[in-house]
Amino acid sequence: MESNNKTFDLIVIGAGPGGYPAAIKAAQNGKSVALVEAKEPGGTCLNRGCIPTKTLIAGAEILERIKDAKSFGIEVGPVSVEYSKMVARKDKVVNTIVKGLDGLISSNNISLIKGHGKFISPREVKVTGQDNCILTSDHIIIATGSEPRKIPAFPFDYERIHDSTSLLEVKKLPKSLVVIGGGIIGSEFASLFASLGVEVTILELLPRIIPMEDKALSAALTHAFQKKGIKIHTGIQVAKIEHENTGIKVFLADGKEIRADIALVSVGRSLNTSSIGLEKAGVLVQENGIIPVNEKMETNVPGIYAVGDIASKWWLAHVATHQGIVAANNVCGIEAHMNYSAIPSVIFTHPEIATVGLTLEDALAKSYQAIIGAFPFQALGKSQAAFQTEGFAQVVVDKKTGQLLGAQVMGHEASTLIAEMAIAITNELTLESITETIHAHPTIAEAWMEAAFMATGDPLHLPPLKKKKT
Ligand SMILES: Cc1cc2nc3c(=O)[nH]c(=O)nc-3n(C[C@H](O)[C@H](O)[C@H](O)COP(=O)(O)OP(=O)(O)OC[C@H]3O[C@@H](n4cnc5c(N)ncnc54)[C@H](O)[C@@H]3O)c2cc1C
Repeated sequence: MESNNKTFDLIVIGAGPGGYPAAIKAAQNGKSVALVEAKEPGGTCLNRGCIPTKTLIAGAEILERIKDAKSFGIEVGPVSVEYSKMVARKDKVVNTIVKGLDGLISSNNISLIKGHGKFISPREVKVTGQDNCILTSDHIIIATGSEPRKIPAFPFDYERIHDSTSLLEVKKLPKSLVVIGGGIIGSEFASLFASLGVEVTILELLPRIIPMEDKALSAALTHAFQKKGIKIHTGIQVAKIEHENTGIKVFLADGKEIRADIALVSVGRSLNTSSIGLEKAGVLVQENGIIPVNEKMETNVPGIYAVGDIASKWWLAHVATHQGIVAANNVCGIEAHMNYSAIPSVIFTHPEIATVGLTLEDALAKSYQAIIGAFPFQALGKSQAAFQTEGFAQVVVDKKTGQLLGAQVMGHEASTLIAEMAIAITNELTLESITETIHAHPTIAEAWMEAAFMATGDPLHLPPLKKKKT
């Protein structure tokens, strides 16, 4: 930027999956937009989250498939992993997408302003860094996202004691890895490294891994992980971690010790809301860092919106993007609201897990007469053909009306399969709409149709559940 202070129709602070789509939508509606970014466009998701992890996981999946080759009648020679090349490929994929995003931002005539943005009044943002200026607007969207949480008992050195960001930069595979925290991010890394032959141990404080998910999914993933050789200790508190020789030693609260080459501490994220001058703008923020917003994504200060990780309990890229679009539409005078009833969520472990809507427990707690219909992948022709028989799909249904309330799936292509249920639940469809939809054969998506038939009490490709009265 040559000249310093400027006025825009909209300022967006943070160019992650919440901020940059908001900037694009507003620009498409004819608004002049300043997009302020302290690091690289794309945010956590593109640079340190979704894309780098899934690129490495894609490599690990190839290795898993090669291990299955013999079952297909294919003999392969000795296989080895050159991890530094996998990491180089990950960097290349990220760089390619970052460049594409840069192009997208400039082709929409958005002014990308590089530096740290901070409110100095409810209508002004001071930027310091590569660019230095004061920006003014009647509309500001805050999309500053999150960082890995630091905990004093865990002395991160980013060589042996890692967070999710530094672990992505390791170029040599360790022999052993301790993962502290068996949530989504911890489980994805555990799965990735175990697939690559690393000895992995998960330590989780709560009674089960992926504790936020349905109990059946948690149990199924525990089983799948144990089959892969991952050691899982739940209900266990880590007291501290120390360096020892060339590795680390983890001290558990019950006096036990676990040794490994490196540790990943994955115990949550802190929100970037403490150093952005919210007090100068009069924007309220909760103690946990979340900025309360209404369904239009507007904060307590009219004209100031918040989206992404800082604005709800859903810390997912696609939620951030949808919130960004909702906020941008409202800025442009197009009324839009957020609805959280059908948020798809995927855990990219091997096998994958995906969910949308209510679990059976949630539905019963909300006083629905809820039932489930579940179908094992084992009974699908395509799963047998592809040698991907692990897993199941299940639907949660309101018995009274037949409405689909939720769906959960574990297994091959779960991440893609969940889209059908997201459409069904968003549009309040019923069991009948699934059983009457012709599903192509042989596909794994048939699992939804079969699970829906199971919920009706009349399975198609499994034996009858009960004797019918004549
Ligand atoms: C390892 C990992 C894997 C993940 N995998 C997935 C996945 O597979 N699918 C999924 O949906 N989600 C995934 N997530 C979560 C996802 O990355 C986040 O939910 C998403 O990035 C949140 O988007 P956001 O726009 O709110 O924030 P962020 O992506 O964090 O972006 C915020 C941006 O704002 C910038 N910024 C912050 N403060 C300022 C400031 N004051 N001035 C200027 N710029 C600032 C930051 O530099 C950053 O670029 C993953 C996260 C991690 C850590």
